[in-house]
Amino acid sequence: MDCFSEDYFSARDKFRGAARETGAEQDSIALAARGPGGEALSIDFAWRGAPAARRVLIHCSGLHGVEGFAGSAIQVQVLRQLPVIAGDCALLLIHCLNPFGMSWLRRANEQNVDLNRNFIFAARRPEASATYARLDPLLNPPFPPRWDGFYLQLIYNLLRYGYGPLKAAIACGQYSYPRGLFFGGQQLEEGPGNYRNWLLQRLPNPQRLLVLDVHTGLGAAGQESLLHSLAATPADELGERLGAVVSADGQENKVLGYRTIGSHEKLYANLYPGCRIDFITHEFGTRPSLQVLSALRAENQWHHFGSGDLNHSAKQRLRQVFCPAESDWQRRIVARGQALVHKGLDLLAAEGCLPPGACHDSQ
Ligand SMILES: [Zn+2]
Repeated sequence: MDCFSEDYFSARDKFRGAARETGAEQDSIALAARGPGGEALSIDFAWRGAPAARRVLIHCSGLHGVEGFAGSAIQVQVLRQLPVIAGDCALLLIHCLNPFGMSWLRRANEQNVDLNRNFIFAARRPEASATYARLDPLLNPPFPPRWDGFYLQLIYNLLRYGYGPLKAAIACGQYSYPRGLFFGGQQLEEGPGNYRNWLLQRLPNPQRLLVLDVHTGLGAAGQESLLHSLAATPADELGERLGAVVSADGQENKVLGYRTIGSHEKLYANLYPGCRIDFITHEFGTRPSLQVLSALRAENQWHHFGSGDLNHSAKQRLRQVFCPAESDWQRRIVARGQALVHKGLDLLAAEGCLPPGACHDSQ
């Protein structure tokens, strides 16, 4: 599908070009990190709708770098077939919140930070769990990727801890191993910090937000999950209006199965305490989770202890597990992603027709 791109730079060009075509208001934040060829990197914005709208659908891609190919493709397609936007609403598309990760085919950013574990506004970060500490040598070995019996050891640990607890211990976020997987960082990273400041300027006082954050890699191939948090609207009502199953984020959800520390929605809760917000992580499954973990581990080894060359199998494999090349998968993701944006805008428009006070109170 031609809305999918070969690399971050062509994705950004497509996004900017499609935004220009629609006459969208555009902006861009330059970041200090550089691409593999020394290129400048940026977070890009396109705003369509009323310039001062306070009811806004925010659509984000690429918080997890390499996962951004899918979200970027959805955004390009949304711009190419622009939906109707009600007079007092706006659609804000945020292209690639982690351009370093997308350009280097990494999930983490330039500081090895998993940005979906980075939004912590408390003074202290939690210690890594005893289980993660025990698994650190297995998950994050200090040498380039090679055969070392990883799967056998993983199976041993699966039997020891059980699938759910092991997955939670590995992936919920850790703040103690800076070269490790799922490291959440020690402060708000440059990209998220600049994005936060940009939001404060451009959207200082929203009344209603629906945030859609696109991710890949969780669930069966092509499976769609809508993980709901902040939850201004009850999940069943939201699901009905969006034409999809909406489930609570975190432990109760079968696909995720654990609660993430420092995840993206906390940014909006922190910035806009008086605003009615529904935050949805729009996840698309790709490959079995053990394959995804193995690919993440190998790429992390290659990044820290190899040359980081993008042609290496560890890089290409990571791309495949987060953005499969199969056209059926790509078509489905774009169709579902586009449909959710359309339904989301319909929802905001319909709420605007309700008499004042008919909406649910904010959480
Ligand atoms: Zn993700």
